[in-house]
Amino acid sequence: MPELPDLLYVLSRLRERLLGRVVTAERVREPVVLRVTLRGNLSLLLGRTLASAFRKSHFLVFRFEGIDLAVNPMLAGRFRLAAPGEADEKTLGFALGFGDAELRYLDDKKMGKAYLIATDDWKAIPGMQTGGVDVLSPEFTRERFVSLLKHRRDQVRVFLLDKKALDSLGNAYADEVLFEAGIHPKTFCRSLTHDDGVRLHDAIVKVMTEAVAEVERRKEPIDVKVRDFLKVRRKDTCPRCGSKLRTAGVKGMDSWFCPQCQPATRAGFVDWTRTGR
Ligand SMILES: [Zn+2]
Repeated sequence: MPELPDLLYVLSRLRERLLGRVVTAERVREPVVLRVTLRGNLSLLLGRTLASAFRKSHFLVFRFEGIDLAVNPMLAGRFRLAAPGEADEKTLGFALGFGDAELRYLDDKKMGKAYLIATDDWKAIPGMQTGGVDVLSPEFTRERFVSLLKHRRDQVRVFLLDKKALDSLGNAYADEVLFEAGIHPKTFCRSLTHDDGVRLHDAIVKVMTEAVAEVERRKEPIDVKVRDFLKVRRKDTCPRCGSKLRTAGVKGMDSWFCPQCQPATRAGFVDWTRTGR
């Protein structure tokens, strides 16, 4: 699943190549990935100029005059810039030609969705979760995060993935952030101290800022997901203590963690700083 650093990188490359350019061709290979809430089909975009491209939650939005194309890549969706006439990939969902460049959406699981909607008609998109605070924005302060955390009754990893609270972390970076903060993924939010909350906030900022910079630095083609620098997700050994990493299921999702650096439970763990001794 593309996560925030991947989406930001793809966006910056697509803006460089395609902003201000006119759609000259279109084709749909997998109608199942396209949902059109307007009268017509992808050809509605022909002759229209790409005015802007931005991220909204886990969607990439391509804005044309009067029409938005909002794409949620879900598990396996990818974008690729191709030259027109280049052979189609087996996984091609649809393509938009912009003169000498073609934007392709590939999806080998066909789980992603692209919505063609009237400008800003977000309510036409099921599952569009917004309202989370952008973790890379100045609004994402320690105070704001700790107050969000205080009102949660769920496990910390479930909270981190809630896009209505945070915009946004996915499975890979949720694991990295919890490792950075030394917190077990199954910990309940209510058992975290104020200091834990502050540490978790700082871990989110550090992990995400570094990931954005690293993905940008690598300059891979936009269909390549750069993940090899992650420390625990899908890895064997803890880079900090050398322990064998474990996985745990949290609400149906596999989570990677270090049993030493992220102790399993705080029950029975006496926090002497809070007893006053
Ligand atoms: Zn460790």
